[in-house]
Amino acid sequence: MISIRTSLSLIFLLAVTNSRAETISDITQAVTINSYSNFHTGLFVADGNSRGFTDGASPRVPAYQHDPARDFIRDTFLALGYDTWLDPFSFNSYLEDGQFYDYQGCNNVIGVKWGSGGTNIYIVGAHYDSVDSGQSGINFLCPGADDNASGVAGMLESARAIQNYTFRDTIIFIAFDAEEKDYRGSKHFVDTHLTDTPGATNSMLFYKPLIKSMVNLDMIAYNDPANGDQIVLGSRKKNLTDSPLSLALEAAVLSYTTLVPFRDGGYNASDHLAFYDAGIAAIHVIEHDLEDYWNSSPPFIENPHYHKATDSIDQAGYISYPYATEVTKSITGYLCEQAGVILPATLIPTVTTNTFEICWSNTPGVAYSLYGTEGLSPSNLWTFLQHMPATNVQTELAVQIDLNTSTQHIFKVISE
Ligand SMILES: [Zn+2]
Repeated sequence: MISIRTSLSLIFLLAVTNSRAETISDITQAVTINSYSNFHTGLFVADGNSRGFTDGASPRVPAYQHDPARDFIRDTFLALGYDTWLDPFSFNSYLEDGQFYDYQGCNNVIGVKWGSGGTNIYIVGAHYDSVDSGQSGINFLCPGADDNASGVAGMLESARAIQNYTFRDTIIFIAFDAEEKDYRGSKHFVDTHLTDTPGATNSMLFYKPLIKSMVNLDMIAYNDPANGDQIVLGSRKKNLTDSPLSLALEAAVLSYTTLVPFRDGGYNASDHLAFYDAGIAAIHVIEHDLEDYWNSSPPFIENPHYHKATDSIDQAGYISYPYATEVTKSITGYLCEQAGVILPATLIPTVTTNTFEICWSNTPGVAYSLYGTEGLSPSNLWTFLQHMPATNVQTELAVQIDLNTSTQHIFKVISE
């Protein structure tokens, strides 16, 4: 429960590796099928598994693989070095099959990657509970491989891909509980951990106006053969599909993946809803459907295993890791762009002219300083050489060093 902010500056160690500055595309390429699938299979997605709750009398509590999945997510956030905590909640008088039940022992799982100096907040969420046999019309165990281990795995893989980078702004990853119980987990988080009072904030209470977007990943691993390689950016409102968030995600899909983005509206049934209702830009990223899931009549679900026992990794040809991995790349690129990843500097030697260049993609809103030292010892004094003021645009910055006149031996660039 302890929150530690990362230091406000980052030292870029220079090394002769690439001949160009590192880019956001390089980070998205670190999202891999292998790593995604490891997270996915760690979430209990095989035949007979369930991340649901007990049946029968109140209180209904986590059953089957629910809490082991919760702990897997928590341990992953901890291993990635994020400020990690459980967000416990319960709710009473929940109507199910004509009767009221109390639910206890629920937990959202939160992993915070604190920003370096920036004040904005970006949220990525995905629910980890699956439908359970206590729910209406469901009398079997549901592994929820697509709904929604797929979204959780995408969130974890994105969190892994960016773990070693410093960001200007703060990113909050949330694995929601009880989405299948009328989105109780996301409602609890919005009610309990967001505030309109700036002075009231702390490491577990966030100032609402600083939250610039909430991206909800719910069902991202079924690549419908009738609509191959398309990904829906589902806005809440039917006719408002060109919000800045929707357009930014569309651009990220086009920049970093092989998928075809599809801006659609009317997506009003998942964990983005509570954030949207709180006035926050929020969107549902979901595998492609010809019509929206919830507003067509009768309800039109493309995924043939939706809320079935066969929503399982054991279903041959069903879960597409290549597709889900592409979706994850787009989220990763979006986060890098919006939350302002501070990319490391690259040393580019130009031997013929006895110069070298220190080169990097600057992050908008971040200033940099160049330092040099005459010795190789870490205890040597660093001499300030040059200041690079913050700009509003993403551009490549470079500093040329003339080795004929420079008395410095090593250099570093520090973001401010
Ligand atoms: Zn779902």
